[in-house]
Amino acid sequence: MRLIMLGAPGAGKGTQSTFFAERLNIPHISSGHLFRKNITEKTELGKEVQEIISRGELVPDRIVIAMMMERILQRDCGRGYILDGFPRTYEQATALKHALLEYGEQIDHALSLEVPDELIKKRMPSRLVCPDCDTSYSALNNPPLVPGVCDRCGAQLVTRADDNEETVSKRLETFHNETEPLKDYYRRKGILIEVDGTKNPDEVYKDIVRALVHHGNH
Ligand code: AMP
Repeated sequence: MRLIMLGAPGAGKGTQSTFFAERLNIPHISSGHLFRKNITEKTELGKEVQEIISRGELVPDRIVIAMMMERILQRDCGRGYILDGFPRTYEQATALKHALLEYGEQIDHALSLEVPDELIKKRMPSRLVCPDCDTSYSALNNPPLVPGVCDRCGAQLVTRADDNEETVSKRLETFHNETEPLKDYYRRKGILIEVDGTKNPDEVYKDIVRALVHHGNH
């Protein structure tokens, strides 16, 4: 199964992607996580994108597309994958489509998590992430079992540098201008599934599974 997770920053894409990756035993590929890893490891790519990401802007298409296609073509992706945060522009979506077509493959579903901006702005200040495995937590609806500690790997949770109020507003604006139009693109292809992302993560997960079953996939 090849899935795309669409939604505003903080809509729950990472959390839902993790659930699905575990259930389906396929890789969860987050473009944001790959960039953050490069920034932490101070690679050339990391140095190139650090400023852009801290401003809440999108990394140029050619950079993201090259990074993601390299990852998708790795052996562990043979049975499918879940893409979290990619594609984010029309150019990225069409590049992905054409690259997959060369292998006779296509995306099965684009899942869009619907969360109003007002709730995103409430969620973000309380968001904590694991610097090692990138798992996100929220004091509002998804707290860690032990405060400040990652459930999965035990690392000390941190606040993401781009989760401050100003950058979140910029990221929301970018989302509405650049990424939200992709919903129409995937709707026209008949593979868009819209799910209410305002509920708690377990309920959202159940709603997605129900929607996938309804669309003939599970
Ligand atoms: P995320 O972890 O998905 O919120 O991504 C964090 C940041 O990485 C974004 O705000 C962008 O600056 C950059 N980024 C991640 N994915 C993409 C993408 N597909 N296209 C462009 N920039 C991206």
